[in-house]
Amino acid sequence: MRYLVTGAAGFLGYHLSARLLRDGHQVIGLDNFHSGTEANVQALSAQPGFRFVRHDVTVPYDHAVDVVCNLACPASPPHYQKDPVYTAKIAFLGTLHALENAERHGARLLQASTSEVYGDPLVHPQREDYLGNVNPIGPRACYDEGKRLAETLCADFHRRGRVDARLVRIFNTYGPNMRHDDGRVVTNFLLQAMRGEALTVYGDGSQTRSFCYVDDLIEGFARVLAAPTNHGPINLGNPREFTMLELAQAVQAEVGAKTAIAHLPLPVDDPRQRCPDISKATALLDWRPSVELTTGLRRTATYFRTQVQR
Ligand code: UDP
Repeated sequence: MRYLVTGAAGFLGYHLSARLLRDGHQVIGLDNFHSGTEANVQALSAQPGFRFVRHDVTVPYDHAVDVVCNLACPASPPHYQKDPVYTAKIAFLGTLHALENAERHGARLLQASTSEVYGDPLVHPQREDYLGNVNPIGPRACYDEGKRLAETLCADFHRRGRVDARLVRIFNTYGPNMRHDDGRVVTNFLLQAMRGEALTVYGDGSQTRSFCYVDDLIEGFARVLAAPTNHGPINLGNPREFTMLELAQAVQAEVGAKTAIAHLPLPVDDPRQRCPDISKATALLDWRPSVELTTGLRRTATYFRTQVQR
């Protein structure tokens, strides 16, 4: 089948494209390198069946494909907050253009939504029917509200029978091919530990996240797309919850460096707790993550070691 992957130079776009190519599909990858990397595109271009198109998704496009996977959007807080108005444009216009392209060609669509649609959740763990607690004017709003509006567009296109648009709500995911300067907690801690620097824990480190290894997530994408029915939003993430201090210890153990902990101020609107309820994905798609944090950290650390050596 012919797939269009927007954001193919990004972390998830790279892994999804690589998986689709391995499965024998053709992939057109779109990206403008706003937050993705040329190295990811070079790695994909080495494989048969991949074609790269440099394009900004806030501008309409037309590609005849069977499936559109809309992954283009900066996702790390420092990156999406650098140009918040552009982030909101990517979330809204990028999703609208992906839906219009899918409608024109009768393609199915996968929308990369996010656990951020739940904001700083008041319900724990988060089920898909929880409507969220988002600050519409805070520094995270360009992404959170942008992604909520993107879900609205998908739901309306689907309700009107225009596009079979499938929503995956992605919880924190990590793995090889993340940017070293992504600014997210896993990459920050791993690189700090490898360099012998203090690990920067924001706040007291008691806030929680759940970390999904990228291969598990991509398997979830494949199952959502292959399902005969559109089941509405599906949480994809690892339900094992860690405090940031626990994560810091796991990273120190993996890297074998007992570096210091440096506490920095907690960012505004930083969610206190986040953990997916994945019972919907498990019941409907028989999906559950299988890679433990220690294994995933080892694979990610191996990737960053090879990067540092280059
Ligand atoms: N965090 C941290 N140190 C860092 C980067 C992030 O303690 O160097 C914290 C951050 O405040 C948040 C959690 O780790 O509570 C996850 O942050 P990340 O930016 O990875 O993703 P988020 O889930 O906030 O989008």
